[in-house]
Amino acid sequence: MPILMSFTPLGDLNSINIINVNGCNNFKTLLPTKNLSLKHIAILKNNAYLCQSFFQKLKDNIMIRTREQYLAALKAMRPNIYKNGELITDVTTHPATRRTVESHARAYDGAACEEKKDIFTTVSDFTGKPIMRFNSMMRTLEDIMNNARMKREMYRLTGTCSGGTCVGWNAQNVMWAVTHDIDAEFGTNYQERLKAWILSAQERGILCAAALTDAKGNRSMKPHQQPCLDSNVHIVEKRADGIVVRGAKVMICGVAASDEIFILPGSGYKDTDADFAVSFVCPRDIEGLTIVETRRPSDDREYKQNWDIPETGITQAYLLFDNVFIPNERVFMAGEFKYSGKVIEYFTANYRACIGACVAGQGDIMIGASMLMARANGISSKKFDDKLVAMAANNETTFGLGVGAMALGGQKNGVWVSNSKIAHLNKMYVATLPYETKRLCQEIGGGIVETGCAPTYEDFHNPAYGEFITNIIKAGDCSTESRMRAVRLSEWLTIGAGVPGCMHGGGSPDGAKMVVKASTPFEEYAEMAKKVAGITEDIPDPVVVKK
Ligand SMILES: Cc1cc2nc3c(=O)[nH]c(=O)nc-3n(C[C@H](O)[C@H](O)[C@H](O)COP(=O)(O)OP(=O)(O)OC[C@H]3O[C@@H](n4cnc5c(N)ncnc54)[C@H](O)[C@@H]3O)c2cc1C
Repeated sequence: MPILMSFTPLGDLNSINIINVNGCNNFKTLLPTKNLSLKHIAILKNNAYLCQSFFQKLKDNIMIRTREQYLAALKAMRPNIYKNGELITDVTTHPATRRTVESHARAYDGAACEEKKDIFTTVSDFTGKPIMRFNSMMRTLEDIMNNARMKREMYRLTGTCSGGTCVGWNAQNVMWAVTHDIDAEFGTNYQERLKAWILSAQERGILCAAALTDAKGNRSMKPHQQPCLDSNVHIVEKRADGIVVRGAKVMICGVAASDEIFILPGSGYKDTDADFAVSFVCPRDIEGLTIVETRRPSDDREYKQNWDIPETGITQAYLLFDNVFIPNERVFMAGEFKYSGKVIEYFTANYRACIGACVAGQGDIMIGASMLMARANGISSKKFDDKLVAMAANNETTFGLGVGAMALGGQKNGVWVSNSKIAHLNKMYVATLPYETKRLCQEIGGGIVETGCAPTYEDFHNPAYGEFITNIIKAGDCSTESRMRAVRLSEWLTIGAGVPGCMHGGGSPDGAKMVVKASTPFEEYAEMAKKVAGITEDIPDPVVVKK
């Protein structure tokens, strides 16, 4: 068996100890690519063939970013994120953002983990090199189903949303399909630019949030009619080398944990709103962009370090673009309003198919939390089998319906686009079933879960009465602390900061219903029913007489 004897630290590289390289894939820690010179770092005994193959694997795997590299990249960014009026200088340690960073970092842990790396990594179909899955192209049914699998796994690892691992991924694929058509009609080179960016994103293994939702202003008016044009992100200047944009995108997930942000138009536009038909990708810390993190339930708890809140989390941000210059190579739509509707169509089809996996993954954690609560309360979780099965059914309904939408989809311009009708149907269920799952979680857990109805961590540790509370809160066959951790998790999942926003996140259910309505041939069904019933005469809708 070849034995890798030693690695010597190089520059800022940490030394790694990889011993017992049996089959050449048994390494625990991966090196950063920078400055790596294999001839300097290893002394390998024995078999030359295995040695070469081991080095090849090592070279391939160092394409995959590590947690440490990810955190270092976030730390190096220009501070431009605020919360509570305070500028956050380091998103990896600040209490308002460190939990969402931790959530996203778990994707890199997954990539480095032998059992999970197939979920979190894949091979680039451009270069043949290993990459993070969320930087990949989704060209086949299998590719998009792997999106759903990864999202469910991310929820299982974090309990909540990690928008930076998925929304930008979807945006990149959607824009691949749309730029193909724009280029064909207008002779632009958007897809070539996008490919260059995707290759760079794959090489760096970056996380990318994505923003469609504008502040909008008055919902009954078009963007150009708004008293404040900044309610919607728009182009204010076109230059030879790029565009200048301003305006606001709001409620954007995982921005603080992301390296970059993909911007898409917020709706389908006509010629009067051509300036709002804009798509580009920019670094999160680009000059001129100010980011304000929003409030969420119980987010004040994040400022304390104790078990009143889990260690993972999600954030939503307002993005304020104040005359930001975007160079041409990062612009993928600049006024081609005719195609803005296509962006929304493809984006929602895939996003609303995959979002079924998100809520299913959170539902899996809610089932687990409910079982822990039952046991911590001193009751067998089997007593709640009917409720737990109902929760599981809700989870698999949205997951399965999403997969169904994917299976009924097809390739459009080289990317997989899910079936729109079934994807929107899924969004209708995503906006309802998880609330029932949350209700059941609260029902099983008891009043202590329903409103988080128990004293704070500080009270448990108060010298005067803390011990008294600790003794009386103990119930089942586990410590008081474990019971309280299960309480706080259940509360966080159902009414707290962990709630990912399944009602409007990914788009409002009414919009989804409109698509289902528009794509259902109701009159054809009436004709079919007539034939089955043997009716030969017309039965028209009664004419409504206006009074
Ligand atoms: C937790 C969370 C995470 C999110 N993450 C992201 C993200 O990462 N990226 C992103 O781009 N967006 C994100 N969003 C935004 C999300 O996509 C929007 O909330 C959603 O599209 C609805 O838009 P809105 O909130 O402006 O609702 P509104 O537009 O205010 O809609 C409110 C209600 O009014 C109805 N309505 C709206 N306009 C009309 C009209 N003209 N006529 C009749 N009815 C109307 C809607 O159907 C809805 O029922 C997130 C939202 C949440 C809550």
